[in-house]
Amino acid sequence: MSEPLVVVGNGMAAARLVDELAKVALGRYAIAVIGDEPRLAYNRVLLSSVLAGETQSHDLELRPAEWWRDRGVTLKYGCRATEIDVGRRELKIANEESINYSRLVLATGSSALRLNLPGADLPGVYTFRDTRDVDLLLALAAAKKRVVVVGGGLLGLEAAYGLAKAGAPVTLIHLMDRLMERQLDAQAGALLKTLVETKGIKILLNANTARIHGTTRVEGVELTDGRMLEADAVIFAAGIRPNTSLAKEAGIPVNRGVVVDDHLQTGAPDIFALGECAEHRGICYGLVEPAYEQAKVLAGHLAGSASAYGGSVVSTNLKVSGVSVFSAGDFQGAEGSETIVLNDAGHGCYRKLVISEGKLSGAVLVGDTSDALWYLELIRGREPIAALRRDMMFGRAAALPAKAA
Ligand SMILES: Cc1cc2nc3c(=O)[nH]c(=O)nc-3n(C[C@H](O)[C@H](O)[C@H](O)COP(=O)(O)OP(=O)(O)OC[C@H]3O[C@@H](n4cnc5c(N)ncnc54)[C@H](O)[C@@H]3O)c2cc1C
Repeated sequence: MSEPLVVVGNGMAAARLVDELAKVALGRYAIAVIGDEPRLAYNRVLLSSVLAGETQSHDLELRPAEWWRDRGVTLKYGCRATEIDVGRRELKIANEESINYSRLVLATGSSALRLNLPGADLPGVYTFRDTRDVDLLLALAAAKKRVVVVGGGLLGLEAAYGLAKAGAPVTLIHLMDRLMERQLDAQAGALLKTLVETKGIKILLNANTARIHGTTRVEGVELTDGRMLEADAVIFAAGIRPNTSLAKEAGIPVNRGVVVDDHLQTGAPDIFALGECAEHRGICYGLVEPAYEQAKVLAGHLAGSASAYGGSVVSTNLKVSGVSVFSAGDFQGAEGSETIVLNDAGHGCYRKLVISEGKLSGAVLVGDTSDALWYLELIRGREPIAALRRDMMFGRAAALPAKAA
């Protein structure tokens, strides 16, 4: 008889895990997926494209209902898991009967961080995490509301671009001295700012939000240096927090995320975690690629193979800002590394490669990202690059002319 395997969360990591399990252990488990969003698993990454009017919301579904049915998956959506009884191997679900598991997988993702500021609970304050948020943001843009986006990382930039493109006057405020500081060095960040400003988005750096003003709804944003920005709406895009409460309340070890080992096993027997809710070797990844790598390893492990997860080399792409940006690996250049830089601000182009011990260890591209995947492969492959070094700065076609032809 199939063992009951229950997955909590019906997001991108859960969908990939079921896919991978179907490849390596079809029939071994009777799988149930419990998700609290009221729809089938969808591609969250594409929410930015929906906001920018480049993708339709109904095109987001990762798999149609029959795909799940064909794999024998019991799918419950619009259902919130509320408690894990580790001793009885039981999962409690709001307004439903509990279900028993032999293995349990936590794939609960993250929530958008709401800054703890005066006025943060006023009507007119939004986040950017799910399809419901996007519907609300699109309504704002359609009404040409003045919007302040708090956060100059990937999400903030994509939210700002989508809203501006839809016609809303947008100011983006960022605490740090450059945009996307976790992915870009100072020069790349400065170029990105210039390019984004040409899209009609006003950007304020070193801008710390003190409070949100308004009596019955948002009327403005005050910065700690006293500046006042008029606004009808505020979007928090200043980070995410892994959803760990189920695990924590069940006594499963949690730091920032649910702590897992190289088999994605938590501190509790037969309970696993993956995706944005998991913390592996001290890292909570906020990106989908690591979640997919974890799904493959966990499926292998659940199928009985000796697969292990050793961490991911992450890369970031801005998808919809109207500006191409890519960053991967050690983009700053750790001590002892060398950097090659091409900076042509006049043409809106910046390229930096970081080389360490004769291998490519990081890359930043702004403007032209057509070689991003090639650089990413080189970084992940850790192959010596001596033979490519002279021309690799100019891209794959220059470094490998015969192969590129
Ligand atoms: C606008 C936007 C743009 C993004 N762009 C990129 C990008 O360009 N590149 C990239 O790599 N990543 C991007 N990301 C991040 C990417 O979407 C996430 O890394 C990915 O979705 C993580 O997958 P997950 O399954 O761990 O979490 P999620 O996809 O968040 O899924 C978790 C699910 O679990 C549900 N859940 C939580 N608690 C419970 C509970 N108790 N009971 C039942 N269900 C529960 C949640 O509601 C959610 O549906 C973006 C995210 C957003 C919001």
